[in-house]
Amino acid sequence: MQIIDGKATSLAIQDEIKEAVTERLASGSKKPHLAAIIVGDNPASRAYVGHKIKACERVGFESTLVELSENIQEEQLLQEVEALNANQAIDGFIVQLPLPDHIDSQRVLEAVHPDKDVDGFHPINAGKLSLGLPGFQPATPAGIIELLKRYGIETSGKHAVVIGRSAIVGTPMTLLLSRNANPGNCTVTMCHSRTQNLQAITRSADILIAAIGRPHFVTADMVKPGAVVIDVGINRIPDATKKSGTRLTGDVDYDALSNMDGHITPVPGGVGPMTIAMLLKNTLDAAAS
Ligand code: NAD
Repeated sequence: MQIIDGKATSLAIQDEIKEAVTERLASGSKKPHLAAIIVGDNPASRAYVGHKIKACERVGFESTLVELSENIQEEQLLQEVEALNANQAIDGFIVQLPLPDHIDSQRVLEAVHPDKDVDGFHPINAGKLSLGLPGFQPATPAGIIELLKRYGIETSGKHAVVIGRSAIVGTPMTLLLSRNANPGNCTVTMCHSRTQNLQAITRSADILIAAIGRPHFVTADMVKPGAVVIDVGINRIPDATKKSGTRLTGDVDYDALSNMDGHITPVPGGVGPMTIAMLLKNTLDAAAS
């Protein structure tokens, strides 16, 4: 398999964004400013937010981290969202998921002003995506589209199979691959936990997107030789050779596929860094509008 290097592509996009920031500053505009709300101490969430803040520094954005207690009440969290909506200095912000169980996540996401919704999770932006209108697109599927584009992978007329139907990955991925655009124009099959004969479907995929959240779910016998395999999964599994005793792995059995013809994204270093790049791109766009 030929590796699709999401890390290198993300850094190239970040260089382009950095240049755009320099141009903005030269023309008298201010630095784009991204804020992130994090609730509680979930280590994975802390790590993701940390990467986003660090990426802001790299491209010359301002960033603000709003750290809130695990025990915060929903109304207080909504007030924090309102404060960021009203803060003219902030161009865009995200609320890191998951939120604690006592909070209605959907209500919080709907409180984010659509013009500052750089995660693209607000129903207005989701609706725009489904209608093919301009708006903020969720960073993970947008990053996958960008990878296909930059690697010159032909998508028109191809059969794309998306495993997973979440609102943040599977569903927007299905929409983006099927729209009349380049990359796009795929015939898309969306699979999920109730799909029957999954292997027969995935074996007919020219482009296979795995967004399930189960380590090594996609095995070599599920993949057609020559396919482009995009692994969205981020799963922590035990690994006695690591100091931490664990390591990250994807939804695809990468080692088993590595000798096949085709393309594959590694985990880590594939879709994850692209998600960050597209969040920065959305923030740059928010600052420009
Ligand atoms: P989710 O749990 O919301 O959705 C998982 C989907 O997998 C569901 O739609 C479900 O129907 C499907 N599924 C579950 N079991 C299945 C089965 N046996 N057969 C077929 N489909 C099945 O997860 P999500 O938020 O979409 O995330 C998926 C994975 O991607 C997770 O590992 C997550 O950590 C990762 N993720 C990575 C990034 C990134 O930046 N790389 C971003 C978001 C999510």
